[in-house]
Amino acid sequence: MKYCRFQFNGQAQYGLVESVAGRDAIVRVLLTAPEEADGDMESLRTRRIEAIPLEEAALLPPVRPSKIVCIGRNYREHATELGHDIPTEPLLFLKATSALLPPGGVVRRPKISQRVDYEGELGVVIGKTCYQPAADADIRQYILGYTCVNDVTARDLQNKDGQWSRSKGFDTFCPVGPVVTDEIDPCFGAGAGVGVQTRVNGQVKQDGNTRDFLFKLDVVIRHIAQAMTLFPGDLIPSGTPAGVGPVVAGDVVEVSVEGVGTLRNSVVDE
Ligand code: MG
Repeated sequence: MKYCRFQFNGQAQYGLVESVAGRDAIVRVLLTAPEEADGDMESLRTRRIEAIPLEEAALLPPVRPSKIVCIGRNYREHATELGHDIPTEPLLFLKATSALLPPGGVVRRPKISQRVDYEGELGVVIGKTCYQPAADADIRQYILGYTCVNDVTARDLQNKDGQWSRSKGFDTFCPVGPVVTDEIDPCFGAGAGVGVQTRVNGQVKQDGNTRDFLFKLDVVIRHIAQAMTLFPGDLIPSGTPAGVGPVVAGDVVEVSVEGVGTLRNSVVDE
């Protein structure tokens, strides 16, 4: 199942995305929000509409999280490129929900930062309330699906502040989308993985694969849910591969996750 959220007849709606004549298109609206199904996707009611090509839809962020819980340094080569040690347990931080930005939205570089970086990531969307799951629980039951995230970061302020709320939390610093899908396996099966690629103005800057996670999603979600309840719709950007770097006004950043699609956003100066 693949869905997006979009403006339709003046309302924010979820749309079921299917391939129509080789192109992704919205073919139904979901009358129940996916995060309200509490893991029971079969219960979603839908209404068929005239197919809308995905690239022509007025897309919104496909998630409405109560919180965005990010993983820092979850790829070895990214940890070392910034001169940090390899973490011994998942490193968590929160990103403000007010930073959410839809596909096609514009990232604003704040005046008070001299260096704003892209971080292309696989985003995990929670589908079922999760708090301190049993040791033998299959964590996949709590995952609704996966999307693309750009964990935009004011790198100079991150270093200056010592903690990351401000540098990661500016408005527009969390582009997400275009769709959420449950049709990929980033790390659960033997040898599973999906490519995570970031391009700036068409030039490849990051080219990683989730099979190289330092902490797989089972470990990550258990670690988070040991501390805080994860609610349906919550978003977990799972860390960025090596190759982070700055953007300037006029740049176009694309984050592609294999099997999800491409999240495209331009950059302006505030
Ligand atoms: Mg990140």
